[in-house]
Amino acid sequence: MEIRKIEQAGILEPMDLVWQVFQEFEAPDYAPEGIATFKSFIDSQCSQLTLELFGAYAGEQLLGVIATRNNGSHISLFFVRKEYHGQGIGKSLFGHIRSSYDHPTITVNSSPYAAEVYRKLGFTDLDSEQVTDGLRYIPMEYHAKAQQAMNQLRKNNMAGYYVHDSKQLLQLLAELIPPGSTVGSGDSVTLEQTGVFQFLRSGNYNFLDKFVPSLTREEKRQIYLKNFTADTFITGTSAVTLDGKLFNIDGNGSRVAPMLYGPEQVIVVAGVNKLTDNVEAAIHRTRQIAAPLDALRLGKETPCVKLGHCIDCNHKQRICNDFVLIAGQFSKDRIKVIIVNEALGY
Ligand code: SF4
Repeated sequence: MEIRKIEQAGILEPMDLVWQVFQEFEAPDYAPEGIATFKSFIDSQCSQLTLELFGAYAGEQLLGVIATRNNGSHISLFFVRKEYHGQGIGKSLFGHIRSSYDHPTITVNSSPYAAEVYRKLGFTDLDSEQVTDGLRYIPMEYHAKAQQAMNQLRKNNMAGYYVHDSKQLLQLLAELIPPGSTVGSGDSVTLEQTGVFQFLRSGNYNFLDKFVPSLTREEKRQIYLKNFTADTFITGTSAVTLDGKLFNIDGNGSRVAPMLYGPEQVIVVAGVNKLTDNVEAAIHRTRQIAAPLDALRLGKETPCVKLGHCIDCNHKQRICNDFVLIAGQFSKDRIKVIIVNEALGY
């Protein structure tokens, strides 16, 4: 199979394929107005091709097509002939778009029929079903790096999720954390920014809230110990590597210790800014960027606060005492990593 770019001169055959497959699989879900809108769009492309169009060919036979706009960042058409469904043609066409344009995210407005196919490719719903000019569609998004990290996390026995924003994050947390259960947390700018602490204080959970200002040192210590027996422990992380590992630096270990052992479920929330290529990059990013900013936030007087970078100090207020790499789990999906398409934390 070969993937080739299709120009205006060769437009009729691919548009005929699109129309045939649409009529068979998608038109039954649409009202007449939606079918007419789609036909009108196809006709307009026949007159003047405004999309980037690619075809999958076996010899001279056209098996399927994909068309994008905005330099490959949005899929407008994606159709494979019925007799070639399930043979990896769609995967190859999508792979061609990813490698040709190298966009961090790719969006699509999927028909209800195709939504499951897109989900299998790694797309996530951005919203519920919409209707415009009779066309029913679900806005979806693919994040290449998040998808890579999630695939690798699964190989390491950890679950991976991707959400577009804080609103979707809170919706997912409501599904993952049973009402009435006990929830502990680590200190985390990410959880503060996304409204997770407020969510946990809603009254639906027995939240082990270590942030109550009146708590004594000993009362806080008791909360840290209770975190080990919480049903869920939720925390941010220093970095998520693209080969599916979690890297953390901690000061007294209270955040990383329940990640390692204790709670039935550990939920880790990370913005896409925490995705790093590998462990070396994770360590570098954490020490040179995240830790100095965190030391500043915590009001420390460590050298990095003045210098803006780490000098591996031995200051009495040093916050980088524990370097913990989680490379896998015995208990499948005990750790669930949610990647949010926002820059969060440090
Ligand atoms: S080791 Fe010291 S200088 Fe380096 S980031 Fe940590 S606290 Fe700052």
